[in-house]
Amino acid sequence: MQTFQDQIVVVTGATRGIGRAITLAFLNQGATVLGIYHTNRQSADQLLADCHDLKKKLFLFQCDISNEEEVASFYQEIELKFSSLDVLVNNAGIRKDAFLALMQTSDWRSVLDINLTGSFLMAKQAVLLMMKNKYGRIINITSPVAHLGFAGQANYAASKAGQIGMTRSLAKETAKKKITVNCISPGFIETDFLHGLSKDQIEAYKNMVPIRRFGTPQEVAEAVLFIAGKNASYITGAVLDINGGL
Ligand code: NAP
Repeated sequence: MQTFQDQIVVVTGATRGIGRAITLAFLNQGATVLGIYHTNRQSADQLLADCHDLKKKLFLFQCDISNEEEVASFYQEIELKFSSLDVLVNNAGIRKDAFLALMQTSDWRSVLDINLTGSFLMAKQAVLLMMKNKYGRIINITSPVAHLGFAGQANYAASKAGQIGMTRSLAKETAKKKITVNCISPGFIETDFLHGLSKDQIEAYKNMVPIRRFGTPQEVAEAVLFIAGKNASYITGAVLDINGGL
């Protein structure tokens, strides 16, 4: 049985890393996926090529989620073509690390703009669509850094903590409409996001994880599918850790 047959799913950052795995997992479960990417057309083309027969259920859109007009145009287009929305996965995110005392204000702003304001803009329009059907699942991809903090990641941690506060508040606003809103919090996951770490850093971080390895994008995707499922109807305002026991 395909759990997401006939469902419309929006995934941001759909063509690389965790978002790519989430997109493929939903497609394999029968969903139609509307995937957003930003700058990397090559990854978008590669995903389409790798989808084979599932390609007919994947629609890719270039959109900067931190740009209100671009987000509005994206939703106008999908409302015309698909008329409903079942699941939104706010996955797109960036990091621009620096110690706070040395951090450029532009790097503070761009991380907050994309990770937090982008999630807000995407969720705002999604809620309006989901309310019409009195059903929906919104999943925000946060990080353990939101509550642990991490030297050099004040901007990133603030954006991810903001997502959790937004999630818990929105969950209370939409509960009566049968729209659940949750966070998934992945630990160290093997994607381009970890590029730039030295061999020593990788070893040290792996040693911090009780399971002693980094996670895979597929392991995060499994959790997203669970919380996006119809059976997860009593889970809202929650943060689900996928981090090997951090
Ligand atoms: P990734 O491989 O670097 O991919 C990031 C994705 O976000 C790309 O598809 C990128 O699109 C998209 N994106 C960036 N800026 C965007 C914008 N302005 N508008 C639309 N899309 C944009 O990252 P990842 O590791 O898969 O991470 C996915 C999420 O998981 C992020 O929110 C990250 O904070 C979170 N997370 C990751 C880890 C980890 O260890 N990997 C741990 C905890 C949390 P383009 O490629 O087209 O530019």
